[in-house]
Amino acid sequence: MDLTSPRVIRSIQEKFGFTFKKGLGQNFLTSRDVLHEIVEAAEPEDGVIEIGPGFGVLTQELAKSSEKVVTIEIDERLIDVLDYTLSDYDNVKIVNKDILKTNLKELIKEEFDGRKVSVAANLPYYITTPIITKLLEEKLPIKSIVVMVQKEVALRLAAKEGSKDYGAISVLCRYYTEPTVVTKVPASLFVPPPKVDSAVLKLKIREKPAVDVLDEKMFFKVVKASFAQRRKTLLNCLCSGFSVPKTQLSSLLESIDILPSRRGETLSIEEFKKISDVFTNEGIR
Ligand code: SAM
Repeated sequence: MDLTSPRVIRSIQEKFGFTFKKGLGQNFLTSRDVLHEIVEAAEPEDGVIEIGPGFGVLTQELAKSSEKVVTIEIDERLIDVLDYTLSDYDNVKIVNKDILKTNLKELIKEEFDGRKVSVAANLPYYITTPIITKLLEEKLPIKSIVVMVQKEVALRLAAKEGSKDYGAISVLCRYYTEPTVVTKVPASLFVPPPKVDSAVLKLKIREKPAVDVLDEKMFFKVVKASFAQRRKTLLNCLCSGFSVPKTQLSSLLESIDILPSRRGETLSIEEFKKISDVFTNEGIR
């Protein structure tokens, strides 16, 4: 069953009386080449978790290359469809759940004996950021996350300091992962086509975070405050985010060779670490 064929997609829709739900980000991929690029980047051999299988087009390809696939789909109308399209694969487990309400630590323990797995998905775009944040912050045993996302989001997640796309989420991604854009994907390769172009992003999880900070909570608070008001200087942003007199803040920044007049988007992850550590040492809150 070639699930990349719009004719096959239509016939499944008719067989099951299925209509796409825009609110669930249901745009199905129809490119065999892109599927292969996702599978190659995901390295799913030892086990893979998929988010949002839809009709199972990516699930089938993952199942061919992986020991076991656990695929999590929120839309219960799709469960019968998936039982049908995946009936040839005995290494796929379909879970009818909301990914954001799924205890992934438990799931990996139960389904994969706690071994490190890959994550692959053509993500529902309305919840891209919460899903990626969940996958990173829960410190799960995962090797990499390979996801199709809106092109602008991929560029933002993979951005480095100094680029217009660089923001707090770029620092979060770089802290936990080595991000790369695998390929760009035009909207015309989906049924129905979304309003935006897409890209496949690979986030290879680091063995340990990119920088060794004294206090992780403080680090992310500093990052968030530094990007909170794009037009303001670093000094003003940090002043709004922390309760410290401006003069003290200014001399602290100068003591670690960071000009208070800089903007948050020019700071490297190492510089955020320096600020975070000096704040921790000085007991700033
Ligand atoms: N994997 C298919 C493909 O590549 O063609 C479908 C991808 S489609 C962009 C996103 C899928 O995620 C849909 O099947 C949708 O129902 C599902 N989905 C949406 N929100 C979800 C959630 N919170 N948890 C799990 N699945 C979700």
